[in-house]
Amino acid sequence: MVKYIFVTGGVLSSVGKGILTSSIGKMLQTRGLKPTVVKIDPYVNIDAGTMNPYMHGETFVTDDGGETDLDLGWYERFLDVSLKQENNLTTGSIYKSVIEKERHGDFLGRCVQIVPHITNEIKNRIRTAGKAVGADIVLTEVGGTVGDIEGLPFLEAIRQMRVEEGYDNTLYVHVALVPILDVTGEMKTKPLQHSVNELRRIGIQPDTIVARSPKMIDAEALRKIALFGTIPESSVFCSYNAETVYQVPLILDKQGMGDFICQRLGLKCDIKDFTIWQDFVDGMIHPEHEVKIALVGKYAGLSDSYVSMTEALRHGGAACKAKVCISYLEAEKFEREPECIKDLANYDGVFVPYGFGPRGTEGKIAAAKYARENDIPFLGICYGFQLAVIEFARNVAGLTDANSTEINPDTPYPVIDLMPEQRGIEIKGATMRLGAHKVILQKDSLAHKLYGAEEIQERHRHRFEVNLDYIEALKNKGLRFTGKSSDGRRMETIELPDKYFYFATQFHGEFKSRPGRAEPEYFGFIQACLNKKLGKPKA
Ligand code: GLN
Repeated sequence: MVKYIFVTGGVLSSVGKGILTSSIGKMLQTRGLKPTVVKIDPYVNIDAGTMNPYMHGETFVTDDGGETDLDLGWYERFLDVSLKQENNLTTGSIYKSVIEKERHGDFLGRCVQIVPHITNEIKNRIRTAGKAVGADIVLTEVGGTVGDIEGLPFLEAIRQMRVEEGYDNTLYVHVALVPILDVTGEMKTKPLQHSVNELRRIGIQPDTIVARSPKMIDAEALRKIALFGTIPESSVFCSYNAETVYQVPLILDKQGMGDFICQRLGLKCDIKDFTIWQDFVDGMIHPEHEVKIALVGKYAGLSDSYVSMTEALRHGGAACKAKVCISYLEAEKFEREPECIKDLANYDGVFVPYGFGPRGTEGKIAAAKYARENDIPFLGICYGFQLAVIEFARNVAGLTDANSTEINPDTPYPVIDLMPEQRGIEIKGATMRLGAHKVILQKDSLAHKLYGAEEIQERHRHRFEVNLDYIEALKNKGLRFTGKSSDGRRMETIELPDKYFYFATQFHGEFKSRPGRAEPEYFGFIQACLNKKLGKPKA
């Protein structure tokens, strides 16, 4: 019998539901159980692919090419699983399939309604996600906040699942903010109480409540939450601020949340084993070194835009016992104030992330140039890779004004150009080159040394690529293309062998980086930053 856990949130969004859901999954997984996770995003978009990272954070790409919510990244990192597009539901995707069925005639004669047709579709998707991987438990996180109009059909669907699956097989977890007032230092539970009331109004009584608070909640707050939430005090837990989010499963498990869930759902489980996780966490909170990284990006104002990259850099740091301090720098600043580029000398490494469109690209190119000329370890990902190629073309290969046709369609040297199969595509949603593709690495290269393999599978998300017409010119000047697609026609990695560490990839290694198993390019980069800082010779 599959068990279902539903996570809802109150008071405000970004309260850490994704981390909580991942942590619940982790507590169950360390007891030998097999959880899977579904994220519900009640917005009308079909997927997260067309959304601005500034508003919604990064788009997380799955192996199967899904452009999904960034919470799937947290689930993958915590549970070390590879999720699918189907693990992310949106209002758009649900309505689309119901409407397609209606047009097909599947509901002939009937009036198609939110209840039961939309809610049936939602329940069906949740159950299918569990069946598809043979999960013991399906965790479903409902995005947004209880009370949002958009969330209502989803909450109705999970309410119905209690009736259909039974009390013993379903569990409602509600998480809400418990702020501490500056003035009095008092913990305030009233907003949480209101959100529980809102949930009950919809027909859901939570089985457990998690208070998201800056500090461990005190006895008084605990008593109030239990009393007004109509649950025993032993079912109230607290997720307080930690040094790293990877501590959250440990914090909650120590309070007994893992045991509570297993007992409540009658789950037969093994003795929990947190050893590997705990080792990783210990390494993260007791680093021996520190490296400073300049991330030069377009969405620097919202760190969630680069969450997978940030985590991959940290995983790389943990693997060499180094704390990674990242400064998120607006690339446009280097365009407005070119002399500021010298500030990059204060960092141990320069990192140029993904991106789209012209804004900030000259600043990123300037950063790549500064890193190359001053031999500061450099890592470029996707757009960072393409812009490093442009920089090299302009400043080393003498191709003045070389550019990407994404930035300047009239450039005299389109060293980065639209991929042939992208020509004529007008629809923006889900039409990039997406998901896992094979990359062949050349022996005797940095790429091969980092990955220790000749063939790897890495995730992608791009429309543009290195233009084959310029490969010879760039190679002749010393740029090595050491990773390629299986047909050899798509450039996947570049490196400059005479530099301490200068590496960039068309693919996005960060999506596969895991705590305790850092992605090789990120690990190699941080290790180089640290070694150079410590005055060690190039590896
Ligand atoms: N804008 C570039 C492209 O579409 C790079 C995309 C990215 O960085 N993910 O090819």
